[in-house]
Amino acid sequence: MSISRKKALEDVLERTPRHAPRPENKISAYYGENVFNLTMMKQYLTDEACDSIEDAMENHTSISRDIADQVASAMKEWAITRGATHYTHWFQPLTGATAEKHDSFITPTSDGRVIEKFDGSLLVQQEPDASSFPNGGIRNTFEARGYTLWDPTSPAFVWENTLCIPTIFISYTGFALDNKMPMLKALASIDDSATAVCQYFDKNITKVVATLGWEQEYFLVDKALHAARPDLQMTGRALFGAAPAKGQQLDDHYFGSIPARATAFMKEFEMESHKLGIPVTTRHNEVAPNQFECAPVFEEANLANDHNLLLMEVMEQVARRHNFQLLLHEKPYPGLNGSGKHNNWSLGTNTGVNLLKPGNNPKTNLRFLTFFVNTLAALHKHADIVRAAIASVGNDHRLGANEAPPAIISAFIGSQLSDLLDALETSIKAGKLTPEDKTALKLEIGRIPEVMLDNTDRNRTSPFAFTGNKFELRAVGSTANCAVSMTVLNTIVSDQLKTFKRAVDQRIAGGDKKDDAILKELQKLIAQSKSIRFEGNGYSEDWVKEAKQRGLSNLRNTPEALNVLNRKEVQDLFESMGVLSKEELGARVEVDLENYILKRQIEYRVLLDMSRSTILPAAIRFQSGLLTNVEQLTAVLGKDASKFSVAQMDMIKSAGTVIQNLHMAAAKMEEVHDNAEGAKTAIIKARDYAEKVVPCMETVSSHCAELELMVDDAQWPLPKFAELLFTR
Ligand code: ADP
Ligand code: MG
Repeated sequence: MSISRKKALEDVLERTPRHAPRPENKISAYYGENVFNLTMMKQYLTDEACDSIEDAMENHTSISRDIADQVASAMKEWAITRGATHYTHWFQPLTGATAEKHDSFITPTSDGRVIEKFDGSLLVQQEPDASSFPNGGIRNTFEARGYTLWDPTSPAFVWENTLCIPTIFISYTGFALDNKMPMLKALASIDDSATAVCQYFDKNITKVVATLGWEQEYFLVDKALHAARPDLQMTGRALFGAAPAKGQQLDDHYFGSIPARATAFMKEFEMESHKLGIPVTTRHNEVAPNQFECAPVFEEANLANDHNLLLMEVMEQVARRHNFQLLLHEKPYPGLNGSGKHNNWSLGTNTGVNLLKPGNNPKTNLRFLTFFVNTLAALHKHADIVRAAIASVGNDHRLGANEAPPAIISAFIGSQLSDLLDALETSIKAGKLTPEDKTALKLEIGRIPEVMLDNTDRNRTSPFAFTGNKFELRAVGSTANCAVSMTVLNTIVSDQLKTFKRAVDQRIAGGDKKDDAILKELQKLIAQSKSIRFEGNGYSEDWVKEAKQRGLSNLRNTPEALNVLNRKEVQDLFESMGVLSKEELGARVEVDLENYILKRQIEYRVLLDMSRSTILPAAIRFQSGLLTNVEQLTAVLGKDASKFSVAQMDMIKSAGTVIQNLHMAAAKMEEVHDNAEGAKTAIIKARDYAEKVVPCMETVSSHCAELELMVDDAQWPLPKFAELLFTR
């Protein structure tokens, strides 16, 4: 039995708020102190070892066994000074979260003591007992071995007395079993293709890295109130609840002053994050009450993603110290704003240039246009894969509802850049460019910096928005591992850049001048990808209709979206880009479908159980109280009782109606669920859950919410939304 609502509310009132520890020093004094970064390496390692690591980080060269031994030993020495007793290979299995198995450093000696030891073989490779991680049937039992392998491009760190070593996770046969490995491959691919295209503009560009700046949204709820809601505890979201009288309609929470208890929590997790080298810098309230956001300074995508995963863990731990439960779910409260994780993405070069930032002369602007237009073209061509990348059970509730982008993928670029692309589309004529054409084009392209200066108009309803010097993928869910969307975005843009390079080279071989060839090719792409550009209100019903006319997909739920990955052309794309083989991709679809089904199954069970064993009994008790009252009135007043029991009789009847409705709806849900469970394949089962079970669950939820509004508040067993949202 979960704790009662009354007890939970008393607990909250009795809390003494925890204050954030006051840092003794400025941030720069403790920033990164728990990270074995290059500065630390230089203190602990020989120059030769440092060079080897730096080379591995930059050029992905391999590290010799001897150097690995040196690094391991240095890491251990350093980690012990930071309080570490254990080490772990930290990896990202397909479940979406991170995983770790801790081992201590100790090795017994012959004279009964122990010494701390850690060598290169333990650093480089481990074999966790991983047979219970989802693998989509890739590993059959006789080769059920999975290995974690050190990723030297992301530095090791100490968290909670454990040295954590970021690793990839692969099977014995080399199959990727995690989210990091494919992302690293996609990043390598875009490095190749973007660098090749950069050669048209600047021979000094020899490396391109994808950058990622995530924005993490979340809710906080007092831990006692959380403990009194089994649905929040077991599914991460409230499965039902009546809308509070005051929700987010006043918009008074957004950017408002942050409640003191939340501020103390934020200060503490920011301090822990800074010690871990996570450059969090922004904190603010979000749209809904008790909803907040934090964002870091952007970093290279692999590191940024490790930092996001680590941050989610840190936040969860620190929240508990403050008697909060962190809710990362995409939609913790039906009817209110959901939580996303905007992925700000761009491409940076070894020469310090942001390729999505317009320059100040026609040459750099042509480079900007090249990457900008190719990104739009990639999104246009592969919108369905992007949709699949953001699909999750939680995001299904968020997309297209209460201030979240719809499931239709489109891009917002602002009116001025739209005008510019429109002008370019028509101003380049077929055949050779005349001198007049070129002057006109130079004028158009020369206008870009001006355009950018007042490109302040923002469209918050777009799932993919250009925001001046980066694209912002806003459709990602708050629990997601960004590696999934980053793998897709970088793969599709890389593919597009390769196609572009081939086409431009062909035009040059056919006699075009380089700039003419680039412009003509861009013009073609602008025309082809036009339908993906949408500047209007993405939340409106009109857009759903217009998108349909434009031929854009609207894949409304996860099973539909995941099915995209079974298409032959999608498998070919991932395979040809060297990111995922057909089998690896297929395994991911299987794991994701299974995950979807399991989560829906849990939600279904919790809802059925709460309806029958908590809500119906509470409503019936309430009704019994009314009936007793009517009986007593009759006993005392006789015939006259009917005059004084009109309200009671009305309440008895309306409660009676909803009680029957809930009972019937629960039975119907059970029947539909049982049918779904009998489905022959995972895809059919997942679809049945999405299309048949979920609507039944919504009916059940709505009856529960109706009863919440009828039953005596003093008798209602569960914390209400107003209490969950406004208790600070
Ligand atoms: P908003 O909420 O208005 O979208 P924020 O300032 O909260 O803006 O977030 C902007 C995010 O974009 C930050 O995480 C920032 O680091 C990131 N960002 C800025 N420039 C780049 C870039 N070149 N590449 C990737 N991310 C970037
Ligand atoms: Mg943003």
